[in-house]
Amino acid sequence: MDLPDSAATHTHRARAERPPPCPACAGPSWWNGWRQTFPQLSRGRIETWLARARCKSGKCTDYVVRPGELYPHRQYQPDVVAKVVAAIAIGGETPAEAAAAAKASATSARRWTGWVARIVEVGAALALAVRLKPDLAAGEGLSTRATTSPTRGLAAQVLHALEHLGEALVRSGVVLVSESGLGRVLEWQHRQHGDVVHLVVEPRSFSPGMALGVAGGRL
Ligand SMILES: [Zn+2]
Repeated sequence: MDLPDSAATHTHRARAERPPPCPACAGPSWWNGWRQTFPQLSRGRIETWLARARCKSGKCTDYVVRPGELYPHRQYQPDVVAKVVAAIAIGGETPAEAAAAAKASATSARRWTGWVARIVEVGAALALAVRLKPDLAAGEGLSTRATTSPTRGLAAQVLHALEHLGEALVRSGVVLVSESGLGRVLEWQHRQHGDVVHLVVEPRSFSPGMALGVAGGRL
């Protein structure tokens, strides 16, 4: 469901007088132009401009300042990834079929499925969901049917756990723009701690305990 070009948003958002401090050295920075990107959201691809900033020290790498709703370093945003992986892992579609709906490649769809399968330990995510909202029946509805591959089966369980955790976060009063459990948890973790989970480079997974700032062993 791509947006027609005419409907693409072209927003040079108003910038604050000064950029936020340099993420590398926490020193002052100045604005240094814009970067055009085309993130793929669940409502389609949009055109957006991200403000660039440069550290005054001259020693650090330039960085971009993203609006909260955009997850860094991902053209295909987490809600889109969650939908494609769910179609494969839960809906039984082939990677090519699931990818076509998002205008992605089958290779990306396969990579996303493997990424989701390993992104978090299922038990830890469910435990955190129950801790945040004890009334959530977190174990309910866990898929027990045979799946075509261990990776798909695991991805289905992870998506299920993240749905519960995302729901628990929202019901706890956390305001999130993402719609999927995967998107909500990644958005929350990024906003709260600045953590970014990558597809190819580390870190490619996260611990909910770390995200809450508590020792993982206590969960
Ligand atoms: Zn710096």
